[in-house]
Amino acid sequence: MATDELAGAAPELLQDLVDANHILYHLRVVDGFGHVSIRHPHDPGLFIISRSMAPALVTQSDLMCIRLDGRPVSDYAPAPYLERFIHGEIYRAREDVVAVVHSHSAAIIPFGVVPGVTLRPISHMGGFIGEGAPVFEIRNTAGPGSDMLVRNNELGAALAKSLGKHNLVLMRGHGSTAVASLNVRQAVYRAVYAEMNARLQSEALRLGTPVYLTAAEAAGAALANDNQQDRAWNLWKREVG
Ligand SMILES: [Zn+2]
Repeated sequence: MATDELAGAAPELLQDLVDANHILYHLRVVDGFGHVSIRHPHDPGLFIISRSMAPALVTQSDLMCIRLDGRPVSDYAPAPYLERFIHGEIYRAREDVVAVVHSHSAAIIPFGVVPGVTLRPISHMGGFIGEGAPVFEIRNTAGPGSDMLVRNNELGAALAKSLGKHNLVLMRGHGSTAVASLNVRQAVYRAVYAEMNARLQSEALRLGTPVYLTAAEAAGAALANDNQQDRAWNLWKREVG
């Protein structure tokens, strides 16, 4: 759409959102599915996200504005993502969050389905995972017969509650959602390195009992990486350019 509702957003910000879509596909965090959004820079009650389509194909003309309750701003909006409620309810619950990535990246899934096994920071690049990622159990809200999708406000709010103050929440049998308080680049970074951390942790668990980062190490590493994130972003942007 990229119509009047997006007029107040800087073109560079919208381009970052388009690039985020392409980078997440390039690094195989998303495939035909998954989505990334930013909070509207001038209206915290709105977020900006692509219309329902594969992330690799998104252009600025595909971006649309959605209210936190999931209703598109435009009466003539194209079909939105079914799981837009993930984004809206997290933005509603977390005033600090400015970007959200939802994906079904494969390496993370096992950590959401084995009771007692928690995704924890195993290298400094995963420091943002803190003391471990919580797991959202959709059955607690939707019962035992859902299609596993966060397709309404009630499920989105329950997911946001599971996320709490964390940067990443796993979704049992489904995927994960990463959030950022700096910008969309930080959200992409977190989604990419959540996937890498999951691969490394699975490898380490095969060898024995891993030694994880302490909470202080995780916090220190996360801060250091936040200050370096454009280094990775600029490389990824060139790769998809
Ligand atoms: Zn999903």
